[in-house]
Amino acid sequence: MARHVVSLLVVAGLLLFSAGWADAQSDRPLRLPGSSLPRRAPAPDPPPTPPAAPRPPRPAPGSALPPPPPLAAPAPADDAAAGDLSLARQLGLQVSRIVIDAGHGGGDPGAHAHGLREADVVLDIARRVAAGLEAQPGVEVVMTRNDDTFVPLRARTALANEVGADLFLSIHANASRNANAHGVETYFLDFALDPEAERVAARENLAAGGKMKDLQNLLEAIAANSKLRESRDFAGTIQRALVNALREVNGEVRDLGVKQAPFFVLIGARMPSVLAEVSFLTNSREADLLATDAYRERIADALVAGVLDYRKALDPVPRATQQD
Ligand SMILES: [Zn+2]
Repeated sequence: MARHVVSLLVVAGLLLFSAGWADAQSDRPLRLPGSSLPRRAPAPDPPPTPPAAPRPPRPAPGSALPPPPPLAAPAPADDAAAGDLSLARQLGLQVSRIVIDAGHGGGDPGAHAHGLREADVVLDIARRVAAGLEAQPGVEVVMTRNDDTFVPLRARTALANEVGADLFLSIHANASRNANAHGVETYFLDFALDPEAERVAARENLAAGGKMKDLQNLLEAIAANSKLRESRDFAGTIQRALVNALREVNGEVRDLGVKQAPFFVLIGARMPSVLAEVSFLTNSREADLLATDAYRERIADALVAGVLDYRKALDPVPRATQQD
């Protein structure tokens, strides 16, 4: 009984949290436009696509963003009952619509160091990722922003829900007071387990205002319905791809691993959703690399590969077999 009362309070808190949400109505989901970025040629002979459940169309230009995601009343987590296979794998779901979220933007520049603004760097990487994914047969990309505008954190996830996205990937660059800190890490939404992860979440949540103290309570209500297991798997795939790809050009890249922390931008997502910190702006060596097209392209290639690897792992029939 006490838990239910607590849950009601939490849901009420979430309602208050969403109060400023209506201000987000001017932000528009952005379709990746035809781009002059270099891209791969589409692979020939796309495999047959099995019939998919109907899903919402992409938002038309000028359409309003959806209302905030429904508030999740605590429900039994299906994670524990799912056995060894995640629900997505059990259902053999195929990934085809992917939301790419470039962190920050507009009045929220994110981290800045060594002459670089996080908002600019991650937008450029996000565009490259989108171009790489759009070149794949059967993959659609929706970007939360495609220019230097601010999109509220909750609106980003709401967009992903509205378009029925299969995956949500938020791209960020890391920062630390310790100039020696370097490497890559990938997060999924859950309680933070260490102070460093808490600090990263606090920095990335700045745009949400000073409500961090309520966040842990909110998570209790939200975690019950989150794609926890799938998000953790997706984070693992992204992290592996990043480390493998960057090691070739940045031999000192540190694998900081898959971590969990309460990121506003991941709350309420109904699909596997992760946040990648692709290198440290505050480390002079990684900042020098992040300033180059080659490194950004390498990161983007890795993120594309990670998404495709995760998609492949969900595929009940190996694509190579389908094409034979
Ligand atoms: Zn960031």
